[in-house]
Amino acid sequence: MAILRTPAQLCENGFVSSKKLPALQAVAARYAVALPHPLACLIDRNDPNDPIARQFIPNDGELDQTAGEIGDPIGDEQHSPVEGIVHRYPDRALLKLTHICAVYCRFCFRREMIGPDKPNALSPGALASALHYIRTHPEIWEVILTGGDPLVLSARRLRTVMKSLADIDHVKVVRIHTRVPIADPARITTDLVRSIKIKDKPTYVAIHVNHPRELTPEARAACARMADAGIPLLSQSVLLAGVNDTPEVLGDLMRALVESRIKPYYLHHGDLAPGTAHLRTDIATGQNLVRNLRGRWSGLCQPTYVLDIPGGHGKAPIGPSYIEHKGANGPAALLVVEDFRGQQHVYPPRQTR
Ligand code: SF4
Repeated sequence: MAILRTPAQLCENGFVSSKKLPALQAVAARYAVALPHPLACLIDRNDPNDPIARQFIPNDGELDQTAGEIGDPIGDEQHSPVEGIVHRYPDRALLKLTHICAVYCRFCFRREMIGPDKPNALSPGALASALHYIRTHPEIWEVILTGGDPLVLSARRLRTVMKSLADIDHVKVVRIHTRVPIADPARITTDLVRSIKIKDKPTYVAIHVNHPRELTPEARAACARMADAGIPLLSQSVLLAGVNDTPEVLGDLMRALVESRIKPYYLHHGDLAPGTAHLRTDIATGQNLVRNLRGRWSGLCQPTYVLDIPGGHGKAPIGPSYIEHKGANGPAALLVVEDFRGQQHVYPPRQTR
């Protein structure tokens, strides 16, 4: 099966009903659609609530923009000094090489900026300007390749970019954000793995995974090729209603990641991207799920639950608190600390001589 890119193709292959076609064509006119074969194979066409389908098959709910939803929910634009760069935090910058992805997630926070009808790569001139920006900002310690998905680019192009970054003394770490090992694991060839390594500087790869079923044997093998090459692997997951918002699924996901040598890194609260309300949970639900993870699973299985504050103000950890102040403020305050079973314990005030 080739990559399915239109509602008509999804209908021909039994993923959507013909009755929904007009609405889904309106969705596809606004937001990109692509369902690659490895993910199509995971979908149970007889399950109307299939968690893989919810992530990738367009839904007519995407036509409803609810209050608070905005085209650039994490405020990339206002922190973009030159094309292709987002410089939000002092010590790191995003380098957006492409607007193309291997699959288009229905909740994508950059859905207004990505897709095949957008300019699909930085021009050589724009890339030169972006690299010049990084070179002339010595506070940039880490560069994060994102997009779009940088691993849709050829190994040759990636090698050139990585070499340019390696030559910048103050850039000590390169991180790549990708969904390719899940959406198209065969792309993670030995040559591609070699292309993203830099001599004497670490490359970290953060893999976007939301459901344990996405970690197929092929996806795990693709991740293993990177881990075996010495590339540390992290995960990014988005908390999604009807996909991973139960303790069982979220726990299984975190365990499957650790078993695949991927350290759970971020659990993102869903961004306020337009037409995504049907996929967002509320924050209290997320906090309860994270508390449940803490209570049941190894410390290795604990991601940081984060919210990208709308308006470009960066990420804030929004997990539950396990500590409560009792009585007076200041050094005399009594602290009550909650353990993993939910039981509370007093921690004594600091004693001074
Ligand atoms: S892979 Fe990332 S950038 Fe691409 S559609 Fe999914 S969330 Fe958006």
